Amino acid sequence: MEQTKYLIAGSSHAALSALNSIRLLDQEGSLTLVTKDDRLPYSPTVLPYVVSGQSKPEKVQLRDEAFFTKNNVNFISGSGLEALDADHNTVTLQNGQEWQYEKLLLATGASPTIPPVTGLADTSYHVLRTMDDAVNLNAALAGAETAVVLGGGLIGMHAAENLIKAGVQVTIVEMCPQVLPGYFDPQAAKIIEQTFVENGVIMRIGDTVVGAAQDGEGSKVSLDSGDEISADLLLVCTGVAPAISYLEGGPVETDQGILVDDRMATNIDNIWAAGDVAQALNFYSGEKSVGGILPAAVEQGRIAGMAMIDDPAINLYPGGVPLNTYEFFGNQAISVGISDENALPEGVEVSLNVNEEEMFYQKIIIGEGRLIGISGINTNFDPGIMWQLVLRRTDLAAVKDEFLRNPVDTGRDLMSRIWR
Ligand SMILES: Cc1cc2nc3c(=O)[nH]c(=O)nc-3n(C[C@H](O)[C@H](O)[C@H](O)COP(=O)(O)OP(=O)(O)OC[C@H]3O[C@@H](n4cnc5c(N)ncnc54)[C@H](O)[C@@H]3O)c2cc1C
Repeated sequence: MEQTKYLIAGSSHAALSALNSIRLLDQEGSLTLVTKDDRLPYSPTVLPYVVSGQSKPEKVQLRDEAFFTKNNVNFISGSGLEALDADHNTVTLQNGQEWQYEKLLLATGASPTIPPVTGLADTSYHVLRTMDDAVNLNAALAGAETAVVLGGGLIGMHAAENLIKAGVQVTIVEMCPQVLPGYFDPQAAKIIEQTFVENGVIMRIGDTVVGAAQDGEGSKVSLDSGDEISADLLLVCTGVAPAISYLEGGPVETDQGILVDDRMATNIDNIWAAGDVAQALNFYSGEKSVGGILPAAVEQGRIAGMAMIDDPAINLYPGGVPLNTYEFFGNQAISVGISDENALPEGVEVSLNVNEEEMFYQKIIIGEGRLIGISGINTNFDPGIMWQLVLRRTDLAAVKDEFLRNPVDTGRDLMSRIWR
């Protein structure tokens, strides 16, 4: 049995962020990072560019081998956690190796969820979460003329844009009445949808795939509306769920994800969890929820690493405030916090500035004198500053009118005075 002081499962944003926190205070303690992927670390956010051929898999690494050597890290790739025995502080890897740890971080992210569509299991389809998925999809583009993308969320929209840029005719099927639900309100989503249509994407919004079947080399899907669409490629982007199968039957408490407190600690003393795999405090509701965005994975990883090393400078996790920057066909959309006031109790103040012809959209939501959310298309507000204003529940009462007129300068000025 191998021994290590720190064991980190996963090699993406949360894992690497925790590694940094640990190595800041302890450069010598043995640290082993095990990951399922048989590659150097990369960010899932680059995958659509690998699909289109714009980026090469070997050029998008977050860290290289020299980083692990320099930081005295034992990096084991291509063999993830198969099982965890929390009573004996051991894990079994997929390659059969057993490791005993003193402290364990679970940062194994999320995996695609597949909807219960009749016939889908017997139909060939792609998903997009790992580099292998992206490489396979890129290879499948050769000779493909048409694609159907199930799901108009962030991943489906990114993938669809890159497919169309690669010369493939794309149809997006989204069951909600708008694309990007949760990120943008229906009005902003409409502007984004329109841009996709202008660029040749066929949008089937508010329609649901109810059946799928193999159609020669390609696939055929049938929709709730009665229509059928045949395509060379079928891409399923209907959401993700925390990757926690190795916890089955064990004592680590889970709900949708691994339940953690504000130090990213699980119910087991020497086990922490961070990133997409964790179910952590929700900033707005005060409940615990699974997240799924990169900045939260980095922040949770940072806090988990600090907790694992007993760093006295640790700050407790305040809850996740969504922050998304989304580029589409040369436009930039940003949303910070909540973007749809219909999801909020009554009494919030909404300032809206829209010019659809100019592709300009800006919405600011303020409640009880504090910024709750800001979203925009081709606006130039600084998302980092807005994120801090929401997170710190900064009182805007004294500068509210100025902020609504000019959120960028007013926000920066405010933060420069309260930044610590
Ligand atoms: C196409 C795409 C586009 C995205 N775009 C955005 C965006 O614009 N903005 C944004 O905020 N977020 C975006 N995301 C989401 C973002 O990538 C994730 O929130 C972020 O990567 C989560 O980081 P993580 O470290 O928690 O997990 P992941 O990045 O999912 O990494 C999980 C790691 O765990 C490893 N692993 C899995 N199972 C095991 C196991 N059993 N044992 C050991 N290791 C294991 C994996 O190999 C991987 O290294 C996007 C995601 C995708 C797929």
